[in-house]
Amino acid sequence: MSDRDDESRSIVRRSRMPENSFRPVVTPVMPSVVYAAGSPDALDDMYEGRAPGYAYAREGHPNADVLASKIDWLEGAEGGVVTASGMAAISAALFAVLSEGDHVIGGTQLYGRTLRMLRQELPRFGVRVSLADPADPTAIAAAIRPETRVIVIETVSNPALRVADIPAIARIAAEHEVLLLVDNTFTTPRAFRPFDHGADIVVHSVTKLLAGHSDATLGYVAARDPEIAQAISDTVATWGMTASPFDCWLAERGLHSFAVRFDRAQENAEELAHFLEDVPGVSQVIYPGLSDHPDHALAQRLFNGNCGNMVSFVLPGGRAAANTLVEAAPNIAFAPTLGDIGTTLSHPASSSHRALSAAERDALGLVEGFFRVSVGIEDIELLKAELETAIEAASRAAAPRNLREERA
Ligand SMILES: *Cc1c(COP(=O)(O)O)cnc(C)c1O
Repeated sequence: MSDRDDESRSIVRRSRMPENSFRPVVTPVMPSVVYAAGSPDALDDMYEGRAPGYAYAREGHPNADVLASKIDWLEGAEGGVVTASGMAAISAALFAVLSEGDHVIGGTQLYGRTLRMLRQELPRFGVRVSLADPADPTAIAAAIRPETRVIVIETVSNPALRVADIPAIARIAAEHEVLLLVDNTFTTPRAFRPFDHGADIVVHSVTKLLAGHSDATLGYVAARDPEIAQAISDTVATWGMTASPFDCWLAERGLHSFAVRFDRAQENAEELAHFLEDVPGVSQVIYPGLSDHPDHALAQRLFNGNCGNMVSFVLPGGRAAANTLVEAAPNIAFAPTLGDIGTTLSHPASSSHRALSAAERDALGLVEGFFRVSVGIEDIELLKAELETAIEAASRAAAPRNLREERA
């Protein structure tokens, strides 16, 4: 055999990491799908919990665990699992605890895909679902049946930004031995920790504020009861909801600056909400920190002054005014997401709530002039100026139409 053959064979063989007595400061990305064990005994030790280790990445890998333990710490949780998306986290929690014949109660204003999971997917598996107003704990209580297993609630609803009284709903759930699953994506543990207020399961779309840079799609789920936590972890491995190591690595990097980003974005949101109240052409500003918000007192009590980075506002005028607003703010991404470092603008009537009829949207207040702003960390003066210019343009676009409508 020539030297050359030896060389090519050694290239095919996997290398060991060079010896290094120093540790890397940055978490390495570990894309390995499999982990070679020292012996069958070592595998037994790992699978039987006597020694830590990894065998196959779908069942767990270091980058997911590093990220999960950081979010655990933020949420006051233990043994949380990182998943391939926020929807995977919600699906894993539901599939882990539900069986045929069970009943689920969901908030009426849940994230669009969560609503679809409840209304279209779960019924295919023999699970019945009712929806109730998350801002009204008595409506939740009234929806409980003997076979109710889980209540699914978002702390702050999208895009109307109504606040759910989680402690009151948790008391109702506990009284009836029903699990309370809280989607804490909008609020984040910086403002509210659902486990401290009686939640049984907490989920996140890590994609949003926690990762914060719109470059990784990920979720997180944790349960108070270790048996449920184990069932969720098994569901993730069995249904194949595992997160990619590289996405986890990106999200960990984003998470390092989460608290600083959140505080800055929230400060900007507060200032923007007050500013928009005085901009001519804005007919309504929705922010739980404003004293005229229907849940202002509840938000003050639950969030300790942290009302988050989401602000919604309403302009008079129809689609033409809405189009003009977006076109006149070219530096603010018009994108149906939230929690990015940069401000993004979304228009529920044409995106998240487009599946509803116009009458259903009107009932929720989601008229054509309704916009939701996910406020970012940029210079607030720049943001105010950009939005003011765009709102002025939209008002001009709406004016002739309003006149026409008045004459008609
Ligand atoms: C985005 C979002 C989800 C879904 O998360 P993905 O990471 O997009 O799967 C769930 N709940 C809320 C409140 C969200 O904003």
